[in-house]
Amino acid sequence: MFTAEDLRAKLQKINRRGYKAYKSVEGSYRFPKYQLFIDHVQSDPFAPPSRMRVRVNQSLAKFHRELYKNYHRRIALQDYLTREFAKNILRVSQGKSGTGKSGLIFIDKCGQEILERTAMLVNEDFVEARFAVGLPARGRSILADEAIDIIFNKLAVIVEKTLFYENLKQAELSKHIEQYEDQVYLQSKLEEHNLVAFIANGSILPRESGVSDKPLKGKNVIPFKSPKSMEMNFELPNSGKITGMGIPKGVTLVVGGGYHGKSTLLRAIERGVYHHVPGDGREFVVALPDAVKIRAEDGRSIHGVNISGFINNLPFKQDTQKFSTENASGSTSQAANIVEALEVGTKLLLLDEDTSATNFMIRDGRMQKLVSKEQEPITPFIDRVRELYEKYDVSSILVVGGSGDYFSVADCVIKMDNYMAKDVTQEAKKIAHEYADNRKREVVSEFCITPRVIDPTSFKLGNKHKVKAKGLYSILYGRKNIELHFVEQLVDDSQTSAIGEIIRYAAKRYMNNKLTLSEVIEKVLKDIKEHGLDIISPFKGQHPGNLALPRKYEICAAINRMRGLKTM
Ligand code: ADP
Ligand code: MG
Repeated sequence: MFTAEDLRAKLQKINRRGYKAYKSVEGSYRFPKYQLFIDHVQSDPFAPPSRMRVRVNQSLAKFHRELYKNYHRRIALQDYLTREFAKNILRVSQGKSGTGKSGLIFIDKCGQEILERTAMLVNEDFVEARFAVGLPARGRSILADEAIDIIFNKLAVIVEKTLFYENLKQAELSKHIEQYEDQVYLQSKLEEHNLVAFIANGSILPRESGVSDKPLKGKNVIPFKSPKSMEMNFELPNSGKITGMGIPKGVTLVVGGGYHGKSTLLRAIERGVYHHVPGDGREFVVALPDAVKIRAEDGRSIHGVNISGFINNLPFKQDTQKFSTENASGSTSQAANIVEALEVGTKLLLLDEDTSATNFMIRDGRMQKLVSKEQEPITPFIDRVRELYEKYDVSSILVVGGSGDYFSVADCVIKMDNYMAKDVTQEAKKIAHEYADNRKREVVSEFCITPRVIDPTSFKLGNKHKVKAKGLYSILYGRKNIELHFVEQLVDDSQTSAIGEIIRYAAKRYMNNKLTLSEVIEKVLKDIKEHGLDIISPFKGQHPGNLALPRKYEICAAINRMRGLKTM
């Protein structure tokens, strides 16, 4: 290992030289209080910035064991430090000092969710931040003085303020960890209480805007309040007693007039599979970790999925037990989305009428009379929702403002009225009893779920092929593009990056001709649990990139949407 002064000398030596000369600074350097690893130097000022790490030994960093003594505490601590690092970047430096990305410092950007990330690593030996620096140049000519300023001054300050326990806001850090721990606890208690979701009183569900995930503010924001009949209490390990609405297992409807907050409630539940930062408003809105949002997604491709529980007798006798198409309709796409989620173990389906195919949701009595079952390929969701619950223990929460036929299949009905939740189950039951819907349940066979085996050749990459995520919704896998626009529980660009790497990793190690898709992904997630998220990184032993842990469902959603996917 070199010393910091060696690095300074190396930089001074290459001042004004061509950009490629920066390559000579790759290596590791001992600073008085930490080590700096320059893992990869960018090839020009416009290329992705140079990947670096700073490691501070615990003998100096002094994070006590209590702060990371188990998996969850460690994730929350790492998350907090990543956010602090980002804040300190803004405090210390901003603004370029030269061409392209010259002089900019980057660390993975965190949103409202607390996720496992590779940007920060804390263990008994050290604290390590993984970030990137745009090494400065004018044109293609190296600016050594600027590089020295960034590394020896700005970065040093960021490290000093972020990676030493004594320099942090300790009460804020403890709260971050403790609330996260409470959320994990609350989520783990759902099963035991026969619940699928819980929404604490006082939660702020609406978001700032369609493009911002921050809480809506102002005097017109109505905090959530549970109807008395659905109220439950929990005793959290750190925050003490909380009260809120428990949504029981079974079939739950969310009804109410347009613009009264139905979709907002469902969206909060959808995000309740994740945990949120203090101040988000949804800290104690939790759902089963296996909840999956289902929507129509016409145009997507489908590969060998058994959708026969929902779709039969298609024109030209197309096989719906192993259904494939490059261009699904609204109803077939929604059917495939459900079956694929069931295939990998979902226990809670979330559907919103706003994003569902009407003919997939309902076929009413009058339509049954006009168009006979023989002429209609679709078995609507209303005819399967109870069977899914009773035979497969899969619950559903549905936003249906438009069809009272669903009253007959519901266990619980919540009405949103001016953003206030009311329990109208008894009323809905009475109405269902008094006013016949005149429809018959129309099913042609029992519902069945058929696990698929993915043909490993689907993910073969050529030597020159790359795997690269572009933003939140797109992954370039070799020559193919995986489109994820309608995968609504994907929340972070770095999850998308991780999905690309996970697919590559899974294809290499576990996709053979025997393991089912679910088994393959379980194996990858087990490796991650045991060895950390670094394991899927293509940069072995070096800066593991910007990765955040996705769920099994989003990983499979990406695999299922790859055009040309072959199943056995
Ligand atoms: P619906 O699905 O019933 O038509 P939405 O959930 O889309 O209604 O909500 C309509 C609007 O009301 C949205 O702009 C949303 O941000 C806002 N909103 C939802 N819940 C609340 C609340 N509790 N307080 C204030 N505004 C809210
Ligand atoms: Mg709506």
